[in-house]
Amino acid sequence: MRVPECDVLIVGAGPAGCAAAITARRHGLSVIAIDKATFPRDKCCGDGLTTLALRELESLGLKPSASSWISVEDVFLHSPFGREIHLKLPRGRGQYAAVVKRIELDAELVQLTINAGAEVYQGVAFDNIKLTPQGTQVSLDDGRTLTAKNVIAADGMWSPVRKALGCTPAGYRGDWHGFRQYMRAEGPRSRDLWVWFERDLLPGYVWSFPLADGQVNLGFGVVRKGRLDGKKLASVWEGLLDRPSIKQTLGAVTPENSLTAWPIPAQLPTAQLSMGPVLFVGDAATATDPLTGEGIGQALESGRLAAQAIANEPTPETAATSYEVSVRSALQLDHRLSKRLSNVLVNPRLAEVALGAVSTSNWSRRQFARWMFEDYPRASLFDPRRWRRGLFDGGGAWSDPN
Ligand SMILES: Cc1cc2nc3c(=O)[nH]c(=O)nc-3n(C[C@H](O)[C@H](O)[C@H](O)COP(=O)(O)OP(=O)(O)OC[C@H]3O[C@@H](n4cnc5c(N)ncnc54)[C@H](O)[C@@H]3O)c2cc1C
Repeated sequence: MRVPECDVLIVGAGPAGCAAAITARRHGLSVIAIDKATFPRDKCCGDGLTTLALRELESLGLKPSASSWISVEDVFLHSPFGREIHLKLPRGRGQYAAVVKRIELDAELVQLTINAGAEVYQGVAFDNIKLTPQGTQVSLDDGRTLTAKNVIAADGMWSPVRKALGCTPAGYRGDWHGFRQYMRAEGPRSRDLWVWFERDLLPGYVWSFPLADGQVNLGFGVVRKGRLDGKKLASVWEGLLDRPSIKQTLGAVTPENSLTAWPIPAQLPTAQLSMGPVLFVGDAATATDPLTGEGIGQALESGRLAAQAIANEPTPETAATSYEVSVRSALQLDHRLSKRLSNVLVNPRLAEVALGAVSTSNWSRRQFARWMFEDYPRASLFDPRRWRRGLFDGGGAWSDPN
């Protein structure tokens, strides 16, 4: 009988894969992570980190020191009918929101994974998978085959592992589609974080997220309805900088790289989260938030939960059950709530009323900012079972200077 090469084989070393690998190593498990990319590598993303993501990153041992890293305290929303709303996140209590280029963040996470004692094979792609009674066999595109007791598929939106196991619904192409480009913007207000709820894009939105290296991450996301009309989306992008409010805020802009686009999966409540000893995490589990399209925090959390389940359960099968329970209890209610709110935001007038309600007082603006940036699980507000001391009053990440 072939001896498994490792306890846990992780396909994909993005945020979900690295969180799983570091957590598994902390539990004393042997880990191999493979990624088809060689880091540092770019990932099409808005680069925005919520409080959920920041707390997970802190607990993995990451330091907020990348050259593009910027902590965010002021957020500006632009409503469908032109109202400007200034939201303030708490000050002097750690970081509640930040922006960092994924090319830097993901490379730092891979380095932390290596430092934690995991073997990371870069530039090697997953090819196929076979479930056998002796363990799971994963073949790679360099001709090697590895056997592992447990496999975590952290291989993103298109998850080749999920596909090879026949677990991807036919024709599934994600729930949102996002576009982003790095720009240098001259406008005096371009150093703030902006979200524009443009009437024709609802419940999607346009964002401009500042970076410490002087650039901004400019992009927009729209909800997919059937087939995407590529021509229409291209014309939205071309006209984006001529929209009056965006133009006024950003001023003259110069593109600093080429435009990229990528789908965003947000189907957690109905998603299959495991297949035998294989656990799906992050975008491979379609764990992205259906209201905002944010998925880094969810990727980190689901990766951590998968590794904890494997470490704490006697068999891969019980680990799969335990993982499903924990990830659904951590994220599912929030997904359902986000989906409902997203349906409200489709209608410009309802969106205007909702944003108007948010901006009635300093208190409501402050609370909404913390709710929006996932300071606590969004659905907790409506679920007393999750209330615990300090839930609505937690410090940000890195609040302890030591
Ligand atoms: C335009 C856009 C904007 C976004 N903005 C934000 C934002 O501001 N904030 C936020 O929180 N989220 C945002 N998201 C979502 C976020 O990018 C994802 O949810 C997040 O990257 C998921 O992490 P992951 O580790 O699951 O997958 P990924 O980050 O996609 O990592 C998957 C890894 O798997 C590897 N891989 C793939 N195939 C193979 C293979 N065959 N063999 C080996 N390795 C393989 C890839 O190389 C990659 O490194 C955005 C997404 C898009 C598209």
